[in-house]
Amino acid sequence: MNTLAEHDTLTAGLAPSASEAALLDQLAAALPPEALSARPEELSFLATDATGLLGERPPVAAVFPSTVEQVQTVLALANNLGVPVVARGAGTGLAGGAVPKAGGIVLSLERLDQIIDISPQDHSIRVQAGVITAQVSEAAAQFGLFYAPDPASADISSVGGNIATNAGGFHCAKYGVTRDSVLSLKVVLADGALLDTGPATFKNSAGLSLTSLFIGSEGTLGVIVEATLRLRPAPAETATFAAFFPSLRSGIAAAAAVVASPVQPAVLELLRRPEQLTADAVYGAAAAAAEVLVLGQTDGVGAHAEAETLYELLRQAGGTVFALDAAESERFFDLRRGGRRRGEGVKDRGGRGPRPDPSRFGDADVAVPPSRLVELIEASSRIAAEHGLSYNATAHAADGNVHTFFFADGQWVDAAAATALNQARTELYEVVWRLGGTITGEHGIGLKLAAYAEQQLGSVATRVNAGIKQVLDPVGILNPGKWI
Ligand SMILES: Cc1cc2nc3c(=O)[nH]c(=O)nc-3n(C[C@H](O)[C@H](O)[C@H](O)COP(=O)(O)OP(=O)(O)OC[C@H]3O[C@@H](n4cnc5c(N)ncnc54)[C@H](O)[C@@H]3O)c2cc1C
Repeated sequence: MNTLAEHDTLTAGLAPSASEAALLDQLAAALPPEALSARPEELSFLATDATGLLGERPPVAAVFPSTVEQVQTVLALANNLGVPVVARGAGTGLAGGAVPKAGGIVLSLERLDQIIDISPQDHSIRVQAGVITAQVSEAAAQFGLFYAPDPASADISSVGGNIATNAGGFHCAKYGVTRDSVLSLKVVLADGALLDTGPATFKNSAGLSLTSLFIGSEGTLGVIVEATLRLRPAPAETATFAAFFPSLRSGIAAAAAVVASPVQPAVLELLRRPEQLTADAVYGAAAAAAEVLVLGQTDGVGAHAEAETLYELLRQAGGTVFALDAAESERFFDLRRGGRRRGEGVKDRGGRGPRPDPSRFGDADVAVPPSRLVELIEASSRIAAEHGLSYNATAHAADGNVHTFFFADGQWVDAAAATALNQARTELYEVVWRLGGTITGEHGIGLKLAAYAEQQLGSVATRVNAGIKQVLDPVGILNPGKWI
């Protein structure tokens, strides 16, 4: 993590290499002037994402194509000259995936922002990669449909970025991750060719699943320009509830019991220390005595009956349970989004994504089988204490996906604190591997986890990943220097 002053110094005014300079000349001749920028403040911004991480060499230019053909032109020219190209959605990534490591150009998809077509009878929607995720949900809602993937960043992140990171969201508990809602993709390959990964049918047994290949590929295999996404009927009813638990262990154990029960919740989120609610007239007493808040939702025709079954289970596990009406439900979801109200992100974003957030240095996005959650959280607490760090966690409990935050005191992290934070994260990953889990449940590997990628994947999978990369990007221009 760099300070903002370092960030601005490190990213300003880099002279292009000979091949980069040649590419800039060719791009200037091939693209409209508004599609190309080398403004220092623009490049400084595009040199990082929500992590605040920086590569070894910042980008020398940014391109903002507004057509698929322009994306093809950019890649074909860059490929000929061997210049790195880093695809960028909205730059909200929490793994440094969109951070250029080795200079070159940033290819922003933000102007490919059209909803092309919606087919209510086929439950599908065709969108360009730069469309903001919440806009898909809004378009679907007009037809009584629902787009299930809903990352907490839905108001500020792009469909292309969600696909490239295989983003998760609140509704993963029942509807799965982004992968489970992608029917087909159009992808521009490194040499500029346009790949259609297949028909947008719910079923397709012809050939390898190329659609899946690009999901979670973090800009290393191709640039996604269009996606056909699966929609579902909007749930007829929902029942939302909050359950307060006196200890971390009891809250986590209750969440694991819900997962193991025959009732499948649509949402099952876990927050530690719901301090914002302690002054509340209704929830104050329960919140003040609570270590953990479990926020859940059931949906569909039997939503309320299913919720009643879960209330019983949560009470037996030691919880104080409240059924929430629609307004209260929104309030609790905003709380889970870290106090950000839905819709705020678009306004704040100004089309460009967030500035680096120093609190992100010590965070981890690990996932284990839900039955191992208690062990994971207890190990995290122990590791934090051993390194003299503070610790917090939120969880997509039904998926066993925990966002662990190790904190050092002070706004900017000094060298000693950085060492402690890194050591704590490394020890956490050892625990995760022992529990049969992954070091990233939904944010991706990016720059942040590149050093751990081979250990996570194993040597054979690493070799297979590298072979696929070699076929699709033999020159190695796509997001080079990352995990693949
Ligand atoms: C407040 C906040 C809340 C968040 N909540 C969640 C959450 O609940 N769940 C979750 O999963 N994540 C969450 N995130 C992380 C982030 O929003 C997701 O990873 C998101 O999917 C990134 O989308 P983006 O458009 O910002 O992509 P970027 O950050 O721009 O890029 C991410 C990666 O995708 C690649 N990429 C982007 N677009 C394309 C494309 N069109 N073709 C090929 N590669 C591409 C980039 O090269 C990079 O490797 C959150 C982030 C913030 C700041």
